[in-house]
Amino acid sequence: MHARSRKVHYIHYGETRIDIGPHVFPIEKYAILARWLTEELGVDRDRMHDAEAIDADDLARVHAADYVDDLMHARTSWRTARSELPVDAQVIGGFLAMVGGGVTATRLALDHGIGFHVGGGFHHAFADHAEGFCYVNDVAVGIERMRHERGLGTVLIVDVDVHQGNGTAAIYRDDPATFTYSIHQEHNYPIKEKSDLDRGLMDGVNDADYLALLRADLETIDARCEPELVCYLAGVDPYQHDQLGGLGLTAPGLVARDRLVLDRYATRGIPIAVSLAGGYARSPEETARLHLGTMRVAEEV
Ligand SMILES: [Zn+2]
Repeated sequence: MHARSRKVHYIHYGETRIDIGPHVFPIEKYAILARWLTEELGVDRDRMHDAEAIDADDLARVHAADYVDDLMHARTSWRTARSELPVDAQVIGGFLAMVGGGVTATRLALDHGIGFHVGGGFHHAFADHAEGFCYVNDVAVGIERMRHERGLGTVLIVDVDVHQGNGTAAIYRDDPATFTYSIHQEHNYPIKEKSDLDRGLMDGVNDADYLALLRADLETIDARCEPELVCYLAGVDPYQHDQLGGLGLTAPGLVARDRLVLDRYATRGIPIAVSLAGGYARSPEETARLHLGTMRVAEEV
């Protein structure tokens, strides 16, 4: 008997438009990737999902009451102003709608093997304030909803975005049930917090060196953590031509990275919730093309 085959289920944002004006953040990538789900990957409708709605309790499990109140009223304060995004109801509402995708991704991961959020990965959001294009920590909101709803236990967060997952690290600093791992460029944004395991890389690291360090770290983590769920923040900003990154990974290198992570946990039958996180290549299409590489790997594992 073969085990029931595991399928990748996606949460996508074909219809969502968030207007942030001229900005380095390629908001267009979400709609491009939603289109490519069908055009490039041939994903059936029954594997494509909308983000579910979240409520105040979802936010309150992760975020501070004062900050949630600022968000609900689209209020400019020190907490919201650090987003480096417009502080208005349209933008905050758009990103809040995407937080539900973090919940849906964890749910789909637990039910089907891989839940792929074609959005999210807002790892610079702290419990009490926004930072670096991130208002709400969708990954943490998803984890905490599944703990509340299904008694989810140990979670491993593998964050390969070129920027450290500082908000996530701070949120889970004192939680032994959540192991945070970040592999990032050391001399880059943000001010670093302490993850359970940090790998700060020197500028310009190439594919081979990167993959060797990542593999070694994942082996270290195996000895320290037996997760019931892996949250993979698959930022493509370690790319050599990224505008906000300073590492030297090629497009095939990013694919090899994704395969290393996704194969490792998928072959063990551990559910994986993937989110896009960052990517600032020379055009939104180029950025989307790199994220598409992660989606292709997810389809293959
Ligand atoms: Zn980033």
